[in-house]
Amino acid sequence: MFNKILIANRGEIACRIIDTCRRLGVGTVAVHSDVDAQSRHVALADEAISLGGATPAESYLRGDAIIAAAQATGAQGIHPGYGFLSENPDFVEAVEAAGLRFIGPSAEAIRAMGLKDAAKALMVEAGVPVVPGYHEAAQDNLAAEADKIGYPVLIKAVAGGGGKGMRRVDAAKDFAQELEAAQTEAQKAFGNAAVLIEKYVTTPRHIEVQVFGDGKQAVHLFERDCSLQRRHQKVIEEAPAPGMTPEMRDAMGQAAVRAAEAVGYAGAGTVEFIVDASDGLHADRFYFMEMNTRLQVEHPVTEAITGVDLVEWQLRVASGEGLPVKQEDLSITGHSFEARIYAEDVPAGFLPATGVLHRLQFAQGARIDTGVRQGDEISPHYDPMIAKLTVHGPDRATALGQLTHALKATQIGGTVTNIGFLAALSLHEGFAAGDVDTGLIERDLDALIAQAAPCSKTRALAAAASLGLHHAQDLPDFAGQSLWGGVEQIAHFAFEDAEEARVETLSGTRFKVTLPDATHELTHDGQAWGIDGTKIAAAVWCNGNQGAVFWGDTYAFTVPDPLARDADQGAGDGVTRAPMPGLVRVVDVAAGAQVKAGDRLLVLEAMKMEHALRAEADGTVIEVMASAGDQVTAGVALVRLELGDD
Ligand code: ADP
Repeated sequence: MFNKILIANRGEIACRIIDTCRRLGVGTVAVHSDVDAQSRHVALADEAISLGGATPAESYLRGDAIIAAAQATGAQGIHPGYGFLSENPDFVEAVEAAGLRFIGPSAEAIRAMGLKDAAKALMVEAGVPVVPGYHEAAQDNLAAEADKIGYPVLIKAVAGGGGKGMRRVDAAKDFAQELEAAQTEAQKAFGNAAVLIEKYVTTPRHIEVQVFGDGKQAVHLFERDCSLQRRHQKVIEEAPAPGMTPEMRDAMGQAAVRAAEAVGYAGAGTVEFIVDASDGLHADRFYFMEMNTRLQVEHPVTEAITGVDLVEWQLRVASGEGLPVKQEDLSITGHSFEARIYAEDVPAGFLPATGVLHRLQFAQGARIDTGVRQGDEISPHYDPMIAKLTVHGPDRATALGQLTHALKATQIGGTVTNIGFLAALSLHEGFAAGDVDTGLIERDLDALIAQAAPCSKTRALAAAASLGLHHAQDLPDFAGQSLWGGVEQIAHFAFEDAEEARVETLSGTRFKVTLPDATHELTHDGQAWGIDGTKIAAAVWCNGNQGAVFWGDTYAFTVPDPLARDADQGAGDGVTRAPMPGLVRVVDVAAGAQVKAGDRLLVLEAMKMEHALRAEADGTVIEVMASAGDQVTAGVALVRLELGDD
């Protein structure tokens, strides 16, 4: 076994590799960019070397600097994780030329699987079923080949990845145009315009098989179903695949082992298959798509059902040991799901989000793979993944229930996340029935997003809490007043989606919140919230002007500037009221003064900030009811204007 290895990666996967090294007594060296200098993987590793920079090209893709770091620290091997340099055969050769071990497959194995057409040809030779289609080198008769295959067809760039250079064609008349588009895209993205053509599978499931080789032979660790995808990105993965029959599992497992053995595979790899599930699963309707020659993001579900630590196996095999088990020693226990938690703005179209994770609390009992701690930042430089949440139960229904529960118990504040969307997906009826295909999310996207939207009770909580939060922050300065002020007050809370809530303080601990579609009465006894007479297990978090309600799902909101409500309060009556309890610092006007709309009338200090209160319209000052130095409660009239020009 190694004494020390270097991990050429960051985030959750670097941390996960370090965990296993710790357990095995293997020393660890982290590498990091400048922006990652304080990150969790650096803190966990025994040693850390700075690569500088921020972008991957300036840091985690600098093969030479990484090899130099391994040599400088005496690391014997390099674990590439996934992404970055993990499938770069030139890097593998450079590592080996430097006298170090690459913890992964050989450069030849990576190259053999690198181009889709060559990999397909190799698989046909090894007796692995591939999607019916055309994958020869000649590119001059593609339209005729498409006719032969039969529409719909899929054009794919042979050098493709990430869905680029991929075009579905439904009819012969569109072929020429789509071909040109695919070739142009492929040339631009990969510098290689060559394409292949496949039969388009209309109701596809993505089922992949985990394999493990020692360079001579391989075993498989069963399948994962990754059909829940959005734009070809996996969202929730599970193992085993729902509805899988023992015959099909055997057939797929053996095909995957043949694929691995055909390239003398060493280490952990994944053989991805597309399955035609238009009428259930059939042992002869799965086709090789590609082999990923690395550890996969979703490997924890396989670890959960097999009890194997795949990183331990990687280290053992790379250090020269043979395969730790025989195929017949492996079996499946229970069912596992993994959800990928991202900082992303779902309603805005799943846009990557950033932010400081002021609050980060995970569910008990689930496996959490994460590269961040509370207080860490999701920066724009890397993938915005916050954590992978993995559950394992005795059967699929139980595990799915655990997944929903664990998602709902996760509290993340400081950025928007996809947790609500994941929770909605975990409750999807078709998914619960095991009726999955790669089109499920896209088909039901609107309903899933709507379901992830906060309910009226959550909105009411956010509105009432945001009001309370303001005043709670003021509390030390306003001792002697009740938490929410002595006078009856009415405030308006504008949600980011433009809906409004009217919050009426009934007493210091009771609120009535009126929403466009509902009215709720809320109570807060200093510890717990109640809503419409029922005590609930909701938590409200706030930091500066960011707030979140954690009640089932997370609902993130911006605590509005109370002055933004000022314009609404008694609008049109010429009276300027204190929008919150505060200290009058400056009075700018006296009775009789002429003012223009927007002129400053006085300055109120509250929440340790000074707020200017301005004239709502042109007019004459009739009365000033406050002096500098006065403490005022919220809602108190301060200046009365007679509106209009005299
Ligand atoms: P890339 O390498 O660009 O990601 P893949 O070959 O892995 O491309 O395919 C990506 C996704 O496209 C698959 O997960 C599947 O959802 C879909 N796909 C691929 N091949 C087919 C096919 N022949 N028919 C239908 N869908 C396909």
